[in-house]
Amino acid sequence: MSYQLLNGKEISAQIKNEIAEEVKQIIATGGKQPHLAAILVGTDGASETYVAGKVKSCKQVGFKSSLFRFNNSVSEDELISKIKEINADDNIDGLIVQLPIPEHISENKIIETIDPKKDVDGFHPVNIGKMTIGLPAYISATPKGISELLKRNNIETSGKHCVVIGRSNIVGKPVSILLSQKNETGNATVTLCHSRTKNLKEITLQADIIIAAIGKLEFVTADMIKEGAVVVDVGIHRVKSDKTKSGWKLKGDVKFDEVAPKCSYITPVPGGVGPMTIVSLLQNTLIASKKEIYK
Ligand code: NAD
Repeated sequence: MSYQLLNGKEISAQIKNEIAEEVKQIIATGGKQPHLAAILVGTDGASETYVAGKVKSCKQVGFKSSLFRFNNSVSEDELISKIKEINADDNIDGLIVQLPIPEHISENKIIETIDPKKDVDGFHPVNIGKMTIGLPAYISATPKGISELLKRNNIETSGKHCVVIGRSNIVGKPVSILLSQKNETGNATVTLCHSRTKNLKEITLQADIIIAAIGKLEFVTADMIKEGAVVVDVGIHRVKSDKTKSGWKLKGDVKFDEVAPKCSYITPVPGGVGPMTIVSLLQNTLIASKKEIYK
């Protein structure tokens, strides 16, 4: 079967242009420049790369961004007081805390300290709760990006069997809710699989759409895929390579070379879900600055 790529790089560039255009209009008519704040704790390589990508993207669309860095030894109280300070700063529209954070700090406490009005990552229980019952809310970036990627490629979700592999709070769980929502980008019949799922292959073989968010390199293989399925690969893994200048390359949770020929559509890694995640964060920040959800 000849497959088509779900090109997140191209679509995210389109969306960035749309956002940049809107920001120009807002500023030209005397409105406020959207402003995203990011907190980064420590010097983890992957986190540094993600945050740098977010800061760069803000610049590309005309947003202001502020990066607040802390050492790994920062206390929970110090971090909480910084978040409270940002919550109270009217100039800042959105706040993200790059995860993971060191183990001596409670991730839940940190997330719950962020004002839901500024929670553009959509991790706060208030936003997750509202999203779950279909009220306007910040939808977390990766699930929102996946939904947009399917929508802009005219992939029908209504009545389709969608199998999500992975139940994390930031990807698997929220994407399963979005796809089962009673609306034009939902209406799917969703099966959520995880580490305790029995007969995973039997289930994935029934899937019209597979969302792979397992965090295991090339876990999804061709024998797990129905002919003509749509496959969305969320995984990001850095693997050594002697073919690239940097000495490594990115791969996903799906064994692309053998799975792609069975698919109707598939995301590449890199250039699939990754860029859509960043652009969704920008969309949420724009929504925050326009006070579309919370006044
Ligand atoms: P996670 O790592 O927190 O959890 C993995 C999930 O996979 C768990 O829910 C677990 O139940 C499930 N799982 C593990 N082994 C399994 C098995 N044998 N069978 C079935 N299910 C199994 O998940 P996460 O944070 O959603 O991350 C998943 C991957 O996505 C990682 O590679 C991560 O780096 C990547 N990621 C990418 C983006 C992006 O923007 N592209 C964003 C977030 C995460």
